This record gives sequence, C-alpha cells and structure tokens, in this order.
Amino acid sequence: MNKEIPYKIYLEENEMPKQWYNVRADMKNKPAPILNPATRKPITVEELTPIFCEELARQELDDTTPYIDIPQEIQDFYRMYRPSPLTRAYCLEKKLDTPAHIYYKFEGNNTSGSHKLNSAIAQAYYAKKQGLKGVTTETGAGQWGTALSMACAYFDLDCQVYMVKVSYEQKPFRREVMRTYGATVTPSPSMLTNVGKKINAEFPGTTGSLGCAISEAVEAATAQEGYRYVLGSVLSQVLLHQTIIGLETKSALDKYGIKADVVIGCAGGGSNLGGLISPFVGEMLRGEADYEIIAVEPASCPSLTRGKYAYDFCDTGKICPLAKMYTLGSGFIPSANHAGGLRYHGMSSIISQLYDDKLISARSVEQTEVFKAAQTFAKVEGILPAPESSHAIKVAIDEALKCKETGEEKNIVFGLTGTGYFDMVAYQKYNDGEMVDYIPTEEDLIKSFATLPQING
Ligand SMILES: *Cc1c(COP(=O)(O)O)cnc(C)c1O
Repeated sequence: MNKEIPYKIYLEENEMPKQWYNVRADMKNKPAPILNPATRKPITVEELTPIFCEELARQELDDTTPYIDIPQEIQDFYRMYRPSPLTRAYCLEKKLDTPAHIYYKFEGNNTSGSHKLNSAIAQAYYAKKQGLKGVTTETGAGQWGTALSMACAYFDLDCQVYMVKVSYEQKPFRREVMRTYGATVTPSPSMLTNVGKKINAEFPGTTGSLGCAISEAVEAATAQEGYRYVLGSVLSQVLLHQTIIGLETKSALDKYGIKADVVIGCAGGGSNLGGLISPFVGEMLRGEADYEIIAVEPASCPSLTRGKYAYDFCDTGKICPLAKMYTLGSGFIPSANHAGGLRYHGMSSIISQLYDDKLISARSVEQTEVFKAAQTFAKVEGILPAPESSHAIKVAIDEALKCKETGEEKNIVFGLTGTGYFDMVAYQKYNDGEMVDYIPTEEDLIKSFATLPQING
C-alpha cells in the first residue's frame, strides 16, 4: 500500500481523536502509586484536590479506564493548531543517503512553540469547569508558562507564573509572551510567598531553581481562594493529554499502511515521549504488534540510563507527592545544559515502569552532538528545532545511518516537540564553539542518591 506517501500526512477533521488513551489500563505492571508526603501512604483524590483540580486529580489516579473522552471545548481548541503534521523527512533521508524512511511529528506549530499546549488547554479547561478563578505554576525555561498563559487567556482564567529568576532575567522574550497573554510573571524566589522569603533570607542573591519555584507556586495556590496548582510534565494526567500526539501519529501512519519499526522521543519528565508512544506500547502490551521504542535524554541529566528506580520527591521543596520513578535524587542539580526542558531529576512513573519492564529502551546523548544534529536537520528540513527535540533528531539520524550500513528499509518515527527560536543563546554558544559537554561523575550521583527517601516499594 506504501505507494505515494506525501511530505506531510494530515488527518481530516473527522479523523481527529475524540478520546485520550490511558496506557495504564493495558499495563500488567501498573506504575507504583504516588504517596502522600505526610503519611507516605498512597494518596487519595480527596488529598489531592486542595492542590489539584478535581477532574485532574481523578485522571491522575485512574489506571483502569482505557479511553477518556476529550471534552468538546478542548477538541475545538485543538482544531486551531491540530492535527500537527506528520512529515516524511525525504530531504533528510536524501542528505543521509539512507534506505530508512524517516517520519517526524511536529508539535511546534503553535505560538507556545511546543507540545505543552496540548495539556495546558486541558488543565485550564478543567479548572474553568470547576469554577476556579485561576491557576498557579512554575516555569523554568518558559515553554510551559507560555503554553499555560495561552490556555488561561482562552478560558479567561487568571494565570500566575513563578519563573526561575535566572530565566526571568535571561529570557525576557518568553516572559513578555506570557505577559501579552495576560499572565502575571514573578521571578522566583520572590517576596510574595513565605517559602520565597525564607529562601531569599537564607541565600541572598540566589537566582532560583525549579524546585523553589514549584514550592512558591504550590503555596500561592493554597493561599488564595479559588486557585489550584498545575504542572506541565511528569504527571500521569499530563502524559494522558499528550497521547493526542501518538493517536494522531498512529492514525496518519495507518492511513498509508505504514508500520513503524522504531519510535523515538526525547525525555525530560516523559510527557511528550509517553504521549507519542502510548498507542504503540498499547499494541505491544496487548500482544498485537512489536516496536522498538527509544527514549533519549541528555548525558548531563541521565535519569533513565543512570538513575535509580525508587520513590523520590517530585520537587526540591519536598512538598509534592512522592512517586516511584527513575531518579537522580531530588537534590540533583544538573550542570548548565541548554536543553532546559530536559533538566528534570526524575521521570514519569509510567515511562519508568515501561522502562523497568524493558518495553522501551533509553539512550543518553551529549549536547554538542545534539546541536550538530539540530543543524543538519535545520539545513535540510527547514525547521529550527528546540534543543530538547534535537535529542530525538540525533538518535533518529544514528538509526538511519545504521540502516545505511545494513541496507534495511526501516520506518523510523520521531517526535519533534518544538521550535528553538527562544534558544538562540544556546545556538550562539554552539556556533562560537563554546559549548561544552558535562557528564556527572559516579561520585556526583552517589551524593544525590544519598538524598533519596527510604521507602520500600
Ligand atoms: C518541555 C519540553 C520537553 C520535555 O518535556 P517532556 O515532559 O519530557 O515532554 C521537550 N521538548 C520541548 C520543546 C519542551 O518544551
């Protein structure tokens, strides 16, 4: 059936997914339950709802319902920028002179520039439906804050973003996009919260961290009537919303009778990867098909390839629920790395369990080779990729070059999560030859593993 495959495979509006797919329902070994940090017992919906929206708390703990309806309002919003194209990388194949067929699912076609809008709009919708006034969140590099600002503007919700101070100062453009969409952006640590005041007093002049911004956002949500806290990655609800990526990809491939052999995604907290691979993994779990699935992470923050599978705190402030996951320890501070969205110490509990069950594999790559792959891709495919996305490009190119040696005509599919227009300082470093690779030593890791809480599970 593989006759004329267009450069871009689109779905018609009536072919768009109407439900998200909850891969946990098909997993024999479910992800370990998340724990209440106070009691260290599995957390309940009631215990989650002071912090999270009710429907999102339910989705977080639901590991039995395979398909969850996408509310019509969210489907309507998706139509503005979805389906995202599945592109056959004919030009990259030619450049690499490979017999492999390469496809990429491009999520950078919206103003936020990444896949994060897929979950932001869902989370804003449920907050609005619950009658809330607004939501609070943290942002590091700024992609999540931008996506959430857009989603809140659409549903007329107040959006308060705690942005890591160093990014707030160094990434003024992302900050201004958020403000243009009506969000309040506060550099963290701030003097608006108790935890912020405390950190400022303890570490005068600190430029902040993601863990600290999370603690501030959670405090702000609980301190204000009608506010909840939302998060852009790691959580199972986020991965669920991101399955729109994989469901579209699968339908588009099926439309042309294409069977993927290798599916590749970059992994920070695991949401885009989980969203892309869920429908494929579902077939594997049900014994219907087999795929090679590869998670790609930075060598500077190697949670899957060098982390421990253990219960850990999801935030440095240790106030969020504990999750069993591949982790480097919540105290792990990755070295300066330009793929900001991949600098998380842990990994989605779903991805962690799939990896532990050997349904997926993982590779770590160093940042200079990632930027080299990004440049190769940009030159032939016309898209300037985000540094995060370029981790997947790097491994897709490696796999295509292997096919060149073996002569195999594999179908390689990878997730291109976003564009890199706000990452030009990183590209500048690369172009100036000033980019360095840093890999944590065994000693670094042993030190941060020592901070893991002692919980059997
Ligand atoms: C945030 C981000 C990522 C990583 O997040 P996941 O939850 O692992 O998907 C990857 N790519 C881009 C462009 C991002 O903004």
